[in-house]
Amino acid sequence: ASLFTAIEMAPRDPILGITEGFNADQNPNKTNLGVGVYYDDNGKLPLLECVRKAEAELMAKLSPRGYLPIDGLAAYDKAVQELVFGADSAVVKEKRAVTVQAIGGTGALKLGADFLKRFSNDNAQVWISDPSWENHRALFESAGFTVNNYPYYDAATRGVNFVGMMEALNNMASGSIVVLHACCHNPTGADLNHDQWTQVIEVVLKRGLIPFLDMAYQGFADGITEDGEVVRRFAQAGGPLFVSNSFSKSFSLYGERVGALSIVAASTEEASRVLSQLKRVVRTNYSNPPIHGGQVVATVLASPELRKLWEEELAGMRVRIREMRQLLVKKLKEQAPAQDFDFVTKQRGMFSYSGLTKPQVERLRDEFSIYAVDTGRICVAALNTKNIDAVVAAIAKVL
Ligand code: PMP
Repeated sequence: ASLFTAIEMAPRDPILGITEGFNADQNPNKTNLGVGVYYDDNGKLPLLECVRKAEAELMAKLSPRGYLPIDGLAAYDKAVQELVFGADSAVVKEKRAVTVQAIGGTGALKLGADFLKRFSNDNAQVWISDPSWENHRALFESAGFTVNNYPYYDAATRGVNFVGMMEALNNMASGSIVVLHACCHNPTGADLNHDQWTQVIEVVLKRGLIPFLDMAYQGFADGITEDGEVVRRFAQAGGPLFVSNSFSKSFSLYGERVGALSIVAASTEEASRVLSQLKRVVRTNYSNPPIHGGQVVATVLASPELRKLWEEELAGMRVRIREMRQLLVKKLKEQAPAQDFDFVTKQRGMFSYSGLTKPQVERLRDEFSIYAVDTGRICVAALNTKNIDAVVAAIAKVL
């Protein structure tokens, strides 16, 4: 027997597996509503104009490729920190926040998980929403944590089971790590409202929980500033705070892997010790991050003109998704009047928990080459004025 004889086949990734099936499908009218990627009205992955312009600037002054510092491009880290917390926030002014460039939002979560495993209570456990982005559990488990679910989605109301969530938070051991979606909850599209966040912040502080905010969709609900409000409220409230953010979606830079991890500490001095240890986590994982994506984002965020363009382009994506939600509901009303889909317009971000069952999702795939997640999650950002009629007709048939 060799080293590999007893190795079992790993299960397919539930989301990326859908794309594998989609790619193998020969139907020319196939539609992929599975992955969380924004496509434009022509079904194409956009290259944002602000990115194109920043890249042209970078190309014009081509520079040699030395290593970046362990914590990434300084201009990037600064710009991201100001975006996430606000340039004139107390945590930024008092230098209590540290931000390191990360390999996408996923990489930021893994850095935070590894850091927490090293420095949190020996018996601290991680809590994620039920349901959550599939990779949350796997990432924290692979860092060595036991991962639990707190109640979140209520299928009956298609909203948040806030009573259940609060009860869980109130019963967690002090030092527990709570992963929260800052906006545009993936996969349900159901977010907490302002007053509910107030209560969550209160209980997190009161019980000494460690909040880990994951913000992968800033700008896809109400706007860049509006969507970042939860992060700023947590930062103002005090206590330790972890924030992972990603530019995969908001800059349409999926393959460049640009994200960041920010940690808020109690003082400048504490923050510098935290940063020194965070750099060790980076160093022992991949040494230092790649240059290009970080340079693009830093260039856009630092230039008033490019930043304005980015905000307009992001608003364009946000508005188009909203229009698709409205169109989907309107057309479903015509084709399947027996069922109420109004909730789709209340959900936020790229996704909709459509209420479609697993057998219905299977029929959509097998009979119509329309790919969704088994849980009924569809990516509204993959709908467009050309494919929506076929999708609605197919849904009406499988209901
Ligand atoms: N968190 C959530 C909730 C996400 O949906 C995603 C992306 N699907 C990520 C993190 C990871 O982002 P990235 O692709 O930048 O690694």
